[in-house]
Amino acid sequence: MTEIKNKRLAIDLDGIITKENPPHEWKETTPEFYEGWYTRVAPNTENISKVNVLYTWNKIMIYTARTEDYREITESWLRDNKVKYDALIMGKLPYDFLIDDHAAHSFEDFERLIKC
Ligand SMILES: [Mg+2]
Repeated sequence: MTEIKNKRLAIDLDGIITKENPPHEWKETTPEFYEGWYTRVAPNTENISKVNVLYTWNKIMIYTARTEDYREITESWLRDNKVKYDALIMGKLPYDFLIDDHAAHSFEDFERLIKC
């Protein structure tokens, strides 16, 4: 079970819901490379199961640095991999660290809070 209920959860896509993050040299890579990568990236099935449990009691916002150009491919991948969510937010801020006075949780917190 989970202690998290009636919350809006923002969950990163690549590296959390997918098994890996795309290569960092993305600016030097073609859009076709990314279309292929986004289509074929493996799902993190363990995390998807947790997200789907959280979806029962919470609002799930999946966010990603992927641009709007890749929304259709991304929605299709999420559908194929049976990810339950309420919103998909494309184009996250290009930060290395996030400093926020409202709420901040690391993936380790997520792992600790979700026990399902
Ligand atoms: Mg990521």
